Amino acid sequence: MSHLSIAKFGGTSVANYNAMYASAKIVINDPNTRVVVLSASAGITNLLVSLANGRDLAERTKLINEVRQIQENILSELKDDSGVRYKIEKLLANIEALAEAASLATSLALTDELISHGEMMSSLIFVEILRELNTTATWLDIRTVIATDSHFGKAIPQDKKTQQHSDQILKPLIDRGELIITQGFIGRDEQGKTTTLGRGGSDYSAALLAEVLNAKDVLIWTDVAGIYTTDPRIVPNAKRIDTMSFCEAAEMATFGAKVLHPATLLPAVRSNIPVYVGSSKAPEAGGTWVVRDPQPRPTFRAIALRRDQVLLTLSSLNMLHAQGFLAKVFTLLAKYKISVDVVTTSEVSIALTLDKTGSASSGNNLLSTDLIDELTKLCSVKIDHDLSLVALIGNELHTHSGIAKRIFDTLENYNIRSICYGASTNNICMLVHNENADAIVSALHRSLFE
Ligand code: ASP
Ligand code: MG
Repeated sequence: MSHLSIAKFGGTSVANYNAMYASAKIVINDPNTRVVVLSASAGITNLLVSLANGRDLAERTKLINEVRQIQENILSELKDDSGVRYKIEKLLANIEALAEAASLATSLALTDELISHGEMMSSLIFVEILRELNTTATWLDIRTVIATDSHFGKAIPQDKKTQQHSDQILKPLIDRGELIITQGFIGRDEQGKTTTLGRGGSDYSAALLAEVLNAKDVLIWTDVAGIYTTDPRIVPNAKRIDTMSFCEAAEMATFGAKVLHPATLLPAVRSNIPVYVGSSKAPEAGGTWVVRDPQPRPTFRAIALRRDQVLLTLSSLNMLHAQGFLAKVFTLLAKYKISVDVVTTSEVSIALTLDKTGSASSGNNLLSTDLIDELTKLCSVKIDHDLSLVALIGNELHTHSGIAKRIFDTLENYNIRSICYGASTNNICMLVHNENADAIVSALHRSLFE
């Protein structure tokens, strides 16, 4: 082993037997990959979230059968499934019991316990696939390592404890030369309860493990060969970005590019760990390296799109020449654990969009009636839906003259609901109507990238 890499395989990379087989080959072909972090097989987490929200018996049976079928499709392709089948059956029985409990009373802790089963199943099956490829691997329950607080659905990792656990449990296994197969997304709080890091959190897990293990890099294996200048499904001309900076990738992740979970970059940036994004189906196609300081840095790097944004407009005449209104609003939003991303203000009103990317595993509506009630006591509240956030990502965007003109010229035929320019040197954000979003992304890509 020349250096240690942590590889993470997303849901589509462990979706079925062929995907798992291709992923296993990648692991076997790279001697540096000694820790493998897995998501649940594609579709499983959604089904489990649905069960955790409380379903009647008929619905539960249907959903559990769907879960079973996805795993069964993989098990049935194994040459010998006797070692793993009973483990999966046991987990399915757990799921059934937990889903029944959820039908009586839902709870965030119960949800996390239930949805953790997806990663448990995929990781157990993956060990068997490696075994069939003559590779011995050690299955590890990552909850013994990743320590978090008790904020179920979006738990915050406790770095010191995680480091200790890693030194005590994980490091010795790696030093012995073992190949570790484990779960992303999940952790454990101080009381021993299962927690999750938020939807898509397996990337984050991989980066956290890379940090505590002092790994050389994190390899994110997914279904696209890297990060593109924009979503190739919208713009077929989009180009792969070979190297980009942590800042740029963080902007992209935050503003809707689904390739990396926004939090992944926290440990990577903190500890300067390069992150690679590649396709497990076509590893030879290459990918994107996300590093601290790539050169050169182009003015325009990419365009990200986040659909279905909610715009909250809060107005109050009391805001006129008053102090502390914004503080009150943000205190309330913080109380409801809402993270705000784009904010524009005028003398008597403030318009903001809510960040749903990092929202809780349960997918609950962020704008609860309690929150709206409290806000209404403070000011008038208007809620607009069906908006999309288009983010132009680049470098030193505020120092180049003529950028705003190029954007507005390109978009002269579209109505832009609000725009955020100047706060970040790395992005310009526009809130537009959902139905114009694709056309706006295409037009900007054509004018700035092609
Ligand atoms: N399985 C989890 C999810 O679907 C975590 C992940 O895939 O990263 O959100
Ligand atoms: Mg995923």
